[in-house]
Amino acid sequence: MSARLVIDTLDFAYKGGEHHGKIVVSDFERLQDYLVGDRDELKYMVSGALDRDGNPVLRVAVQGTISLQCQRCLGELRHMLDLRTELLLTRNEDELSRLDENESADGILAKPDMDILGLIEDEIILGLPISPRHEESECSLGTLNHNDTAGATPLFTALTQLKKLH
Ligand SMILES: [Zn+2]
Repeated sequence: MSARLVIDTLDFAYKGGEHHGKIVVSDFERLQDYLVGDRDELKYMVSGALDRDGNPVLRVAVQGTISLQCQRCLGELRHMLDLRTELLLTRNEDELSRLDENESADGILAKPDMDILGLIEDEIILGLPISPRHEESECSLGTLNHNDTAGATPLFTALTQLKKLH
């Protein structure tokens, strides 16, 4: 595990703080559930700023490639991450729920001890596809049946496809 990186969010925003670095995905425990491999390295940057209206925000950027599991063939699916999020820092739950209602911006509760890597992990998980799949031309199951592969082994479905083609 890397050391936790903790910031006082409001202070960080008003001072225009910035943290960037690289992290190996194996350091993200919760993210592991979605991954096939754990050796990929991601670049991240978290910076604090004031938005146009003078409100404190945190900007999170994550880039890199991770391996997800294709929900069709269950094979490895390389997925490129290029996340950029701006999170408005709110001072209390009321402000946060008001923000959630109008949905014009994403917000998080300001904290004196925000774990940056935890925040980055949240953003990655939120940005993952719900049902990752290869492009049809790249999937080892090809352009097969619409009922997915329930009950069928990849070999069986491949044979069925061959029959359909001839
Ligand atoms: Zn696939």
